[in-house]
Amino acid sequence: MNRREELEAGLAAVRARIEAARSGAGRDGPHDPGVGLVVVTKFFPASDVRLLADLGVRDVGENRHQEAEAKAAECADLDLVWHYIGALQSNKATAVARYADVVESLDRPKLVRGLDRGAAERGRPLDVLVQVSLDPPGSQHRAGAAPDDVPALAEAVEAAEHLRLRGLMAVAPLGEEPAAAFARLAAVRERLLADHPRADRLSAGMSGDLDEAVAAGATHVRVGSAILGSRPAVR
Ligand SMILES: *Cc1c(COP(=O)(O)O)cnc(C)c1O
Repeated sequence: MNRREELEAGLAAVRARIEAARSGAGRDGPHDPGVGLVVVTKFFPASDVRLLADLGVRDVGENRHQEAEAKAAECADLDLVWHYIGALQSNKATAVARYADVVESLDRPKLVRGLDRGAAERGRPLDVLVQVSLDPPGSQHRAGAAPDDVPALAEAVEAAEHLRLRGLMAVAPLGEEPAAAFARLAAVRERLLADHPRADRLSAGMSGDLDEAVAAGATHVRVGSAILGSRPAVR
């Protein structure tokens, strides 16, 4: 198999898994929002992004600023939607907002101003998801806002002129059944939707747990290795 065929096979397998999870969860009715696929291309070259675009992929995800910036520039001729899904440093927020179309990892108020400035410079609104931590309270904090901090963060995004609050993103913690973590996420989402009915995206689920995420209402899954193969451990 050449690389294009590998990617094509990976995409077909993941799309079939998504469809099976949708029907298994009774989410195949006409009013279901469906499940969008964001292909996570971190660690893989721009040539793979090009092949994916040719295979019909529109949404791609990256988690490191420098790599994402370079790849977005190399692929500027393609009609892609770039999702920034990685940790954000506040001094990089403006730069990320200049090339990202969706920032999924807003997890503290300090980032709002920089993202808003970058979106203003680019002259268009930036879609933002608030990243929620699903770690049990008191555990060593991974990325993401504590569920109780989500309402204030959502307000801060809504108040920024060039940002559009679109919903939530989360990563299931290690060492717990993903279904249990995603059930907590669904509750956080219910609360958010009560105040912000248009913030209805839910980005959850990766190669290992997309099935559970779809069952919990994910509108977007972020899938890397199941499509592109395993990433090098270090680079
Ligand atoms: C790398 C990454 C993914 C994709 O992970 P896979 O297990 O390769 O599918 C999804 N979400 C985030 C935030 C990531 O960093």
